[in-house]
Amino acid sequence: MRSVVILGSTGSIGTQAVDVVSRNPGRFRVAGLAAGGSSVRRLVEQARALRPDVLAVSDPEAAGVVQAELPDTEVWDGPDAATRLAAYECDVVLNGITGAAGLEPTLAALAAGTSLALANKESLVIGGRLVTDAAAPGQIVAVDSEHSAFAQALRAGRAEEVRRLILTASGGPFRGRTRDQLRGITPDQAMAHPTWHMGRVITINSATLVNKGLELLEAGLLYGVDLNAIEVVVHPQSVVHSMVEFWDGSTIAQCSPPDMRLPIALALAWPERVPDAAAACDWTRAASWTFEPLDDGVFPAVALARRCGLAGGLAPAVYNAANEVCVEAFCAGQLEFAGIVDVVADVVDAHLARPAGGTLDVAAVLAADAWARAAATERIDQE
Ligand code: NDP
Repeated sequence: MRSVVILGSTGSIGTQAVDVVSRNPGRFRVAGLAAGGSSVRRLVEQARALRPDVLAVSDPEAAGVVQAELPDTEVWDGPDAATRLAAYECDVVLNGITGAAGLEPTLAALAAGTSLALANKESLVIGGRLVTDAAAPGQIVAVDSEHSAFAQALRAGRAEEVRRLILTASGGPFRGRTRDQLRGITPDQAMAHPTWHMGRVITINSATLVNKGLELLEAGLLYGVDLNAIEVVVHPQSVVHSMVEFWDGSTIAQCSPPDMRLPIALALAWPERVPDAAAACDWTRAASWTFEPLDDGVFPAVALARRCGLAGGLAPAVYNAANEVCVEAFCAGQLEFAGIVDVVADVVDAHLARPAGGTLDVAAVLAADAWARAAATERIDQE
């Protein structure tokens, strides 16, 4: 029986993790749940069903409501509640928080020596070496379907036999458009992802391809592969979740219908597989899986991420923070869809023009994050 802490339990990843755990009561026990506080009802329902030892809610007012509903459950509140819970004694911490807010919980879980099922790619990307150096070998297990696919395919050979990682991308709802055809896109259109139902930020990031940029950086950090040996390929059906090419010319792919419960279950039980975690491919029906190169001219987010990763240091943190601000501005109607990556690129350029140096620590990452947010806000105000 594995005891599990789920951070971001009310979100898209979190609710699917709760589903996996609830369907496997003999395999998992929930020790704690953390949420921001915008979905109190859902959190209370989860707690009633799963009976965790502790709940952590970052918004104190929402925490008060939760405590009143569940007088016998310990409820922690405040901005560091999820970080405290990440250090709670358990076997696995699933980090399903969105954005840079996931950094400190990630570091807390690693410091506690707990296995970290990582959905919050942002913490790994912005922390970079800070996070990988804090992790014991194998302590971080990827939840992202692409990175779970890499982990599964990498079992097929030795590290030195790997030639390339092929990172698949659905291409998002605007695949095939020209740059001109990106004008006037509304948040509702950007939220209509063709193959996945996810939280707001990752869905917009999938439409701009910023998510694929973050995933490129995530793959480099997780598997120690040079960024130039990671290729992004558009695969609209989202069935081949990614591939590893070995030096003899063999390519190993991991395939399953798009359903995050499969990589979530594998990450919680790693290295074991959970029976019937999700449906398998149906080979009795005709199907076509297609692949095409990414149009870097229309979707420059991946090339920009690669540049940030190769520059190293705080550039990935700047990329992520500027993007988080731009996504908010786009959803608030203050920025054009194509303006998201334009502004991120401007902020990255401004960052790279600043003198580099200093120690890579949490304070430096948070300072770069704050600087990028201010720079992006200023740039958006000029639009
Ligand atoms: P959602 O927006 O659906 O959920 C985010 C969750 O984080 C909510 O439960 C929210 O709580 C909680 N949260 C926000 N801030 C805090 C905080 N300070 N402390 C504690 N909890 C907090 O996002 P997703 O589930 O879509 O994505 C989560 C992460 O997983 C992202 O990093 C994303 O990139 C990654 N991911 C997601 C996939 C998906 O299919 N959704 C696929 C692969 C990766 P509340 O609602 O109460 O505010």
